[in-house]
Amino acid sequence: MSKIISKQYDVLVVGGGIIGASIFYQLTSEGYKTALVEKNHIASGCTAASGGIVRCFHLESELSDKAVYSWHYYRNFYQHTGKDCQFNECGFLYFPRVINYANSLKEVDRLSKQVPIRWLNNNELQKSFGNLLEPSLDCAVYEPLSGFMNPLQVTKAWVDAARQLGGHCYEKTILKSLLFSDGILTGISTNLGNVNAKYVVFATGPYTPKLLDKLGFSHDLYTQIIQVDLRRPTTLVPSQPAYIDDCNQLNGRPNLNLDGVYLGSPTNKRITNMAECGDLDLTHSNVTKAKGAYRWKWAANSELIGGLRSADCYSKDGLGRVQALNKDNSIFIATAFNGGGFKMAPWIGNQIVNLLKEAKI
Ligand SMILES: Cc1cc2nc3c(=O)[nH]c(=O)nc-3n(C[C@H](O)[C@H](O)[C@H](O)COP(=O)(O)OP(=O)(O)OC[C@H]3O[C@@H](n4cnc5c(N)ncnc54)[C@H](O)[C@@H]3O)c2cc1C
Repeated sequence: MSKIISKQYDVLVVGGGIIGASIFYQLTSEGYKTALVEKNHIASGCTAASGGIVRCFHLESELSDKAVYSWHYYRNFYQHTGKDCQFNECGFLYFPRVINYANSLKEVDRLSKQVPIRWLNNNELQKSFGNLLEPSLDCAVYEPLSGFMNPLQVTKAWVDAARQLGGHCYEKTILKSLLFSDGILTGISTNLGNVNAKYVVFATGPYTPKLLDKLGFSHDLYTQIIQVDLRRPTTLVPSQPAYIDDCNQLNGRPNLNLDGVYLGSPTNKRITNMAECGDLDLTHSNVTKAKGAYRWKWAANSELIGGLRSADCYSKDGLGRVQALNKDNSIFIATAFNGGGFKMAPWIGNQIVNLLKEAKI
């Protein structure tokens, strides 16, 4: 306890999920005296339930650009951090709604100069994935080198790498309030005492809306439940790619040992407290399975064998919030990627470094 109180940091990162870990590492490696404060233990929030899908295409170029930055970083994770984390290259399919075909084609063309990505017309889609797909007239975007990582492993790797560079990590340490002197931020108060710092970054994921309410910051964020079921098809589906299906509102990926496939659909269920999240909702699983059967041949007869359920921080536009909360640029948030924060985490860490450089510590 005295150890934590006696330190003076440049930056305190609050929240030890994938986003806080990325920020912690990237700030530490840039030479900022940084500490990570986590109320529970590392990767115990919604990162623990994340599918870890890493892909590039988004309908909004702004999001694609952030995802492309992160895709390159994740694919070269060892070069960036000195830590090995496996990138499972299962490929990624995105099914746009017909109304978005023209925009999608334009975006694929733009992104094809930066990453492996192509448009599959219906014939090409059937040729490559007809063994998995229910018949349809749909087209899709295909990223052959995208896939997924283990969120727990990546989070811990970033935290370990930051610690090796001199960053401090305090688990079981809860941010209670911000401390000011003459209106200037001086640090935070926690259950273990006060910690001094010039800058604070909230990487508190789904806890953010409630925390900001408590600290008196106005915001437009909310917390929404995400559920992705794990289903076992009657026969193995070894060529299953990761996917987002905007026609049927589906998302998922193969699991690591290929004996199951994740199948999710939006819950649209908002909560005000993480304790309301609860266990897998079997009524929702049945709805998701029915939707899944429109897209995947294996879905209709598959068996529910588990799943992932937590919540994430959302905003109406889904563009994320990586920005200062106050006028003198000493308090930042980094969240609100609407259930897609894992794939954005490397960009987010870099963006916080840039914002702090602009703030000129
Ligand atoms: C089921 C599911 C599947 C998903 N699949 C994908 C996917 O495939 N690809 C993708 O890109 N994204 C996916 N996501 C989204 C992604 O997982 C999240 O966007 C990301 O994990 C958010 O990370 P975070 O660090 O912001 O939040 P968290 O992991 O929740 O971390 C926030 C941390 O802050 C801590 N904290 C909160 N309040 C305090 C306090 N007062 N003091 C100290 N610490 C505090 C919490 O304990 C927590 O550990 C998925 C999410 C879910 C739920």
